[in-house]
Amino acid sequence: MADQLIRATAADGGIRVVGVTTTRLVEVARSRHELSYVATAALGRAMTAGLLLVSSMKKPESRVNIRVRGSGPLGGLMVDAGLDGTVRGYVEKPKVELPPNADGKLDVGSAVGRDGYLYVVRDVGHGYPYSSTVELVTGEIGDDLTHYLASSEQTPSALVLGVFVGADGVEAAGGLLLQVLPKAARDEALISQLESRLGSLTGFTPLLKEGRSLPQIFDELVGDMGLEMLPGSQLVQFSCRCSRDRMLGALKLLGTDELIDMIEVDKGAEAVCHFCNETYHADDDQLRSLVKELKVERLSAE
Ligand code: ZN
Repeated sequence: MADQLIRATAADGGIRVVGVTTTRLVEVARSRHELSYVATAALGRAMTAGLLLVSSMKKPESRVNIRVRGSGPLGGLMVDAGLDGTVRGYVEKPKVELPPNADGKLDVGSAVGRDGYLYVVRDVGHGYPYSSTVELVTGEIGDDLTHYLASSEQTPSALVLGVFVGADGVEAAGGLLLQVLPKAARDEALISQLESRLGSLTGFTPLLKEGRSLPQIFDELVGDMGLEMLPGSQLVQFSCRCSRDRMLGALKLLGTDELIDMIEVDKGAEAVCHFCNETYHADDDQLRSLVKELKVERLSAE
């Protein structure tokens, strides 16, 4: 089944629930970047979180960027998610592998590293993007983003992220975000009830792996609290905005001297998109026409 995002409310609109399945798109990221197990889990969790965070924004062109820079061997990761359901991302050291942690799980915390920062940028498509930075808590991504939501957005939130990687690739991935909206934020009983239920939902990825659907999981969690599913589900996918034209535009910015050097020394140029690992080649002729374009632009500016 295609990856999708669904929304619901509970407690008379006092609780916002968003769930997303990301099994396919995390698998696309894994195979494009040739990610190790632990890198797949780290990037998969962050991509899943990006889609959940952007889902509360209003303008269709809204995007959320998540950057994690820790002291561990993965060397940092970057995710760009849009309200249009597209997400892309990369890890600096995609091949780094670590043994499982004491719980027998992929050791994302050690791979990312506990010392470092999480940066979140919310871009509504125009005007200044809103950005904030928090220190990492565990490097496990979910804990760090929960800390970000509590300190930067001041919305009591709970975030569950899961990525299960098997020998043949990603078997299950997804996430859940529960937020207590301002109208219910003083309802301490409600909040503690939610916390205890989320505490018992440690097996989110196993539930997905068993084939449980998001509405079924929502129902188990808050079914008795006036759960109302919002109509329609949104398809989500790995998608990059790079293109040959953008790559040529970037080469052009290097200027005439650099381009001539590429033509004479390298007989062409190659550029790799960080986000999706797509390689673009520019041959002699294409580079020469960029030089020509720059010449025309210079003449018309004089
Ligand atoms: Zn790309």
